[in-house]
Amino acid sequence: MVAPARVNAPEEHVASAYAASVGVLPERPQLQGEVTADICVIGGGYSGLSTAISLLEKGHQVIVLEGARIGWGASGRNGGQVVNGFNAGLDTITRRYGDDTAAFFGRHLQEGGKIIRQRIEKYGIDCDLKEKNLYTAFTKKHLLELEAKQALWRRHGMDDHEMFDRASIRQHVGSDAYLGGMIDHSGAHLHPLKLALGEAAAVESLGGRIFEQSRVVSVDYSGPQPVAKTAAGQVRCKNLVICGNAYLGKAVPALLPRILPVSTQVLATEPLSDEQARDILPTDVCVEDCRYILDYFRLSADNRLIFGGGVLYGGRDAKDIAARIRPNMLKIFPQLKNVRIDYTWNGNFALSFSRVPQLGQLSNHTWFAHGYSGHGVTGSHFYGKVLADAIHGDLSQYNVLAGLPWLPFPGGRLFGAQYSAIGSFYYNLRDKLGF
Ligand SMILES: Cc1cc2nc3c(=O)[nH]c(=O)nc-3n(C[C@H](O)[C@H](O)[C@H](O)COP(=O)(O)OP(=O)(O)OC[C@H]3O[C@@H](n4cnc5c(N)ncnc54)[C@H](O)[C@@H]3O)c2cc1C
Repeated sequence: MVAPARVNAPEEHVASAYAASVGVLPERPQLQGEVTADICVIGGGYSGLSTAISLLEKGHQVIVLEGARIGWGASGRNGGQVVNGFNAGLDTITRRYGDDTAAFFGRHLQEGGKIIRQRIEKYGIDCDLKEKNLYTAFTKKHLLELEAKQALWRRHGMDDHEMFDRASIRQHVGSDAYLGGMIDHSGAHLHPLKLALGEAAAVESLGGRIFEQSRVVSVDYSGPQPVAKTAAGQVRCKNLVICGNAYLGKAVPALLPRILPVSTQVLATEPLSDEQARDILPTDVCVEDCRYILDYFRLSADNRLIFGGGVLYGGRDAKDIAARIRPNMLKIFPQLKNVRIDYTWNGNFALSFSRVPQLGQLSNHTWFAHGYSGHGVTGSHFYGKVLADAIHGDLSQYNVLAGLPWLPFPGGRLFGAQYSAIGSFYYNLRDKLGF
């Protein structure tokens, strides 16, 4: 029932259904010796690529340094759900930061999704885009939360949500598990690695240079021209942008307390027949539920069910992923009990303590963005554009986001993982008890 695990070299793509469906990847050089650039971006995920594209479109000269391969991190491994908004809801943002900040976020709930669509269109990126995303509810409380979200988003001018009860949600999900749900007609889903690879091609088409297998081991931003050092070379630049997110490691110590790597696990079934696919997801939308530790799933272009869930604080890899995730899948779709699991993989996202993404500066010429807390496909595109605008001289959006207070994880990385696990245990228990 479960295909044998495949293992790739650590600097190559994780052995996912995505990596198996992108064909031969372009070879890109490794950084050697000293190079100078207007702007050096660390990280070839969506944050780095989005920043790079926006800067190149404005006429800047950009180099991207990727430690492994383009899309090797969360951007090439994620659930592919193009979900509007941010992990922290507008209600939380209002409560914490007030009405003006909430109004700012409210105006930009759909911005990341729009940027993705524009890029797909403008650069001809084929990434199997399919429309709409669905939030599902297990309990009455989840349904009330969704109704409240719909009302709040309407107040901020977004009216693309539609509610479903137990009977009507079956038109979208072939499962008895749910009490109802809410669709976002302006959400979407896609092949995440193809998007990253398409964006890297866009960077190069605009004259940007990408170095792969070029992990930055340290940065020096004490002088007017920051320097990013790899094992074999260094880039000296006018502006340095750090977008390593959960995989940055210890290369930039100042960023360590800001985020906690968290791993989540994904499986992909064998390709389903058209009949099986229509049975479980008749309208081909992607789905995530309302729990703290949630299931997320969708059909790939070749009819595999891509099903994710689970978290491990501290970013450790789970060993037997199928044993963790397959039972969750069968709770939703017992009809898949004889379906083979072809791929399983881990990926790390970056949790911020507030669950609001962060951007900011470490010096006048050193910038960063990270911490989308598991909802970063759209957020990383928005934050990347905001960073690019700021470097180009328009600080209007940057100042709002950079001005938000942030808190380190209590106890740092070591104990932060344990505290978060305890918090997660508490919320998970609440979910299980239906509170
Ligand atoms: C399994 C999984 C499922 C997810 N599902 C969803 C989803 O369905 N929807 C959603 O909205 N979000 C989802 N997310 C979150 C989303 O994928 C991320 O928020 C988003 O991709 C972050 O992009 P990024 O560019 O900031 O980070 P990453 O994509 O992780 O990119 C960082 C890159 O920087 C490189 N790097 C790091 N350090 C260095 C260094 N020192 N030198 C050079 N390069 C370096 C890494 O190799 C990596 O390629 C998921 C995440 C995971 C892990």
